[in-house]
Amino acid sequence: MQKKKKPLILVSACLAGVPCRYDGEARERSEVLQLLREGLALPVCPEQLGGLPTPRAAAEISDKQVLTQKGQNLTESYRAGADAALALALKAGVSEAWLKSKSPMCGCGKIYNGSHTGTLIEGDGVFTQRLKQAGMRIKEID
Ligand code: SF4
Repeated sequence: MQKKKKPLILVSACLAGVPCRYDGEARERSEVLQLLREGLALPVCPEQLGGLPTPRAAAEISDKQVLTQKGQNLTESYRAGADAALALALKAGVSEAWLKSKSPMCGCGKIYNGSHTGTLIEGDGVFTQRLKQAGMRIKEID
């Protein structure tokens, strides 16, 4: 009998070793690499999918807007990237995501408070909010 194929898990691409963070670096994590080696990971960077360059200015959510420290408003790019990444996840039949902690896009449960002072508050990144609305299971990876 043929073995049932396991469903793909969406992962923040920076956790899979892609240097797509705002500072041009990755945050490779062994459990995500293992998933990748097993052919079970779908790496996605919603900020890049939103058309943002790498490297780019750091941004934080403040009053439902995504702003850089200099006040550049990136909200539309964040929304577009989150929508594109969610569409990809749905096409691939994903129902679970492993996401990078504290990011204004991928963060889950804790994000920076918009003051650019390293202060965390309760909240989700823009992509995580979309995934939760779509009923996805989320695992936060630091
Ligand atoms: Fe990593 Fe997500 Fe930020 Fe892209 S948007 S760099 S995948 S945390």
